[in-house]
Amino acid sequence: MDLTTTPDQERLRGELRAWLHEHLPWDYGVGLPPRFTDLAQEVSFGRRWQGDLAAAGWVGVTWPTAYGGRALGPAENFVVQEELARARAPELVGRIGINLAGPTLLAHGTDAQKERWLPAVLSAAELWCQLFSEPDAGSDLAAVRTVAARSAGGWVLNGQKVWTSYAQFADWAVCLARSDTTAPKHRGLSFYVLDMHAEGVEVRPLLQLTGEAEFNEVILHDVFVPDDQLVGAEGAGWRVAGSTLSHERGVNPRQLVIHMQHLEELLRTAAAASAFDDPRLRQRLAEAYVEVRLFQLHNWRSLSKLERGLEPGPEGSILKLYWSEMSKRLHQLALDILGPAAPLWRDATDNPGDGSWQRAWLYYLASSIFAGTNEIQHNVIGERVLGLPREPEPPVPDTAGTGGGRTRQEAARGTGF
Ligand SMILES: Cc1cc2nc3c(=O)[nH]c(=O)nc-3n(C[C@H](O)[C@H](O)[C@H](O)COP(=O)(O)OP(=O)(O)OC[C@H]3O[C@@H](n4cnc5c(N)ncnc54)[C@H](O)[C@@H]3O)c2cc1C
Repeated sequence: MDLTTTPDQERLRGELRAWLHEHLPWDYGVGLPPRFTDLAQEVSFGRRWQGDLAAAGWVGVTWPTAYGGRALGPAENFVVQEELARARAPELVGRIGINLAGPTLLAHGTDAQKERWLPAVLSAAELWCQLFSEPDAGSDLAAVRTVAARSAGGWVLNGQKVWTSYAQFADWAVCLARSDTTAPKHRGLSFYVLDMHAEGVEVRPLLQLTGEAEFNEVILHDVFVPDDQLVGAEGAGWRVAGSTLSHERGVNPRQLVIHMQHLEELLRTAAAASAFDDPRLRQRLAEAYVEVRLFQLHNWRSLSKLERGLEPGPEGSILKLYWSEMSKRLHQLALDILGPAAPLWRDATDNPGDGSWQRAWLYYLASSIFAGTNEIQHNVIGERVLGLPREPEPPVPDTAGTGGGRTRQEAARGTGF
């Protein structure tokens, strides 16, 4: 692992830092996001911010120039993400498009599909969601039951998806559905781009612990998807979806940015609350600092693998498991520092952070579920990183070359944003 940046990377850092000093919607490095009255207001603010950032070329820097990127490498992308964190820049609202849908289309889409969808992903002119999970298909994603039936000029989809983050704001979705109900489960799947404004798409918000409804239930009643919105070959959906899921683990600049920002804010909150005078809190603050730093180093290790042209492997599960537990400890510490103010909610007076710590604590309870549950990560680490024995299971034959041949455990995954 080489942590030294090149002169070109430092030039890139300087260029972005100068841009942020001029364009951030609040003071560089110290600002807090404005108080939004609801999620819709936050999303519309986010679209404007991402639009500005993309227009200046700071979104999707690794993407090809033809689709609005800069064709830079993973290390340059990391420099960009770290600078955004340092500046306390707002999170990107179009993250599902940028991190999941976009890379999948880049890998498996036709030229026409890439030209149609990719530029609007970066500018947030169009938002995306991920229609993978279903009530009986979460960790075992290949069990999806949504059916895609052949029809003139396309497909008709019927089924129920759940936990779909940002579905109520999305223009498009990546959707996994069963196009052949007679084939073995991994081989009967196809991968579609679905128009969220199409007739028959019903979005029902689901209330979360935070009091917001960021995710939703999505019912598909006879939704027509034209032929040119099939991504990859018919029946190759499991392989295409595997590409989407590989972007959820491994290097995770987004969670790194968030946790670096939260750590900085925590240190500020701790100083204001004189928490450094308490030796037990001081010790835990030092541990939180070390943990975020270790997360950064873990990321750099995976990054150096990418830089050498290697694919992220199953050890990405270590990173996911690590940050989800780190996150819970960090946000628990924040509440312990707030002390008697910890149970206060947003409208309360004398509430340090105006309820943002309480919200983050509640939100990150889900970190051990989304992007693959902790149990699934433990299984992957045990079986595929440590090589521990696994329960024998008959493999699914891969006669069609579509990514069957894997066992159920290897198919286990998790999504979530
Ligand atoms: C905040 C949030 C946002 C999300 N956003 C999206 C989204 O935008 N799109 C989307 O498609 N999905 C999304 N998800 C869904 C997420 O991917 C699933 O919740 C996750 O994959 C787990 O699936 P499940 O909830 O069906 O639980 P299940 O798979 O039913 O698991 C239930 C329990 O059984 C355990 N378990 C299951 N299989 C095994 C096994 N083989 N070995 C050991 N233990 C096992 C699990 O760890 C868990 O504890 C989101 C989830 C959350 C929490």
